[in-house]
Amino acid sequence: MIPFNKPHFTTKELSTISQSLQTGKISGDGPFTKLCSDYFESRYQFPKTMLTTSCTDALEICALLLEIQEGDEVIMPSYTFVSSANPFILRGAKIVFADSYPDNPNIDPVAIEALITPRTKAIVVVHYAGIACDMSSIMNLAERYRIRVVEDAAQGIDAFHNDKPLGGIGDLGALSFHETKNIICGEGGLLIVNDPKVGKRAEIIREKGTNRSAFFRGEINKYGWVDVGSSFLPSDILAALLYAQLMELDDIQSRRAKLWLNYYNELISLHTTYGVGIPLVPHYARHNAHLFYLVCRSPEERTNLMNSLKSKHIQSAFHYQSLHKSAYFHSKHDGRQLPNADRFSECLVRLPLFYGLDEHSQARVIEAVRAYYQGQ
Ligand SMILES: *Cc1c(COP(=O)(O)O)cnc(C)c1O
Repeated sequence: MIPFNKPHFTTKELSTISQSLQTGKISGDGPFTKLCSDYFESRYQFPKTMLTTSCTDALEICALLLEIQEGDEVIMPSYTFVSSANPFILRGAKIVFADSYPDNPNIDPVAIEALITPRTKAIVVVHYAGIACDMSSIMNLAERYRIRVVEDAAQGIDAFHNDKPLGGIGDLGALSFHETKNIICGEGGLLIVNDPKVGKRAEIIREKGTNRSAFFRGEINKYGWVDVGSSFLPSDILAALLYAQLMELDDIQSRRAKLWLNYYNELISLHTTYGVGIPLVPHYARHNAHLFYLVCRSPEERTNLMNSLKSKHIQSAFHYQSLHKSAYFHSKHDGRQLPNADRFSECLVRLPLFYGLDEHSQARVIEAVRAYYQGQ
């Protein structure tokens, strides 16, 4: 069986984890946590970053930092993971789902503008597949209407919008190191604070509402409870795992890029011949080969293609169900049709793409996909 995904480990994790155990400093904000933050700040010029227990948790900090309250409206795509929405729902926000482009799962800025009201407090963008949203248009809207922007860059490590790294463009951003992403530590995330006005508060919220971080830096001589917060710090053991991965980031990314490009070159004919959707990379986006997908012409075609791959021992996966139609949300939705989000829900299929996928196996996947369409 060729799996859809297989986590990749470099040769360095056991050594960094064992170093972490030897220091005995295995709670949050130990030496490896600092190494990871420093890495992100120096490599991508992010103004301030903080390791978190997950991307979901980083987004919860964002919702607190933006002081989202009951009745505030937050616009985001419907075609996304529940974690884009939950942190804002927890603060009492009204989620207003916007549609994707017809040919790209990312949120369409034209759809956003039509939904802005005086109560709109924030826009959450999701860079699907590590392919940048149209951040120039979105930041422009945000400025014109005085709305804050949060980037759910869970899939966006080492991907760019023009020369800017994803997560570093809005007021706040969040990356994920969940086992399914490009760089992993099991469960983990990164909060990126681009708005200098909330940096101190972010630190406090992440540390259970205390000013312990400033205390550890020697800026104050005792720490206490100064704000609301929760426990958003990962163990330094996980940071050690993450650091090992970061040391191999270029190798991991170049392997993934090679596999992605190979899929693209070998399968683009399905687009030109049959009108099957393939990833669209706008001129402003430099993506990170997070995933490779096809958009089938009908839900039936997707089922048949996936079954055909399965019969050849190849695992493939669909992705999100439109959130506006979910069991939790559908009764709260205002009834607008979001046909593009629905189509990606029903027709998008992801192909195996992971570091350890060898050429021979990838050739088998490509052959199986082509054989399915040639047999139509
Ligand atoms: C993976 C993912 C998340 C959640 O990340 P966690 O680190 O598991 O919390 C959120 N949003 C998107 C778009 C994702 O792909």
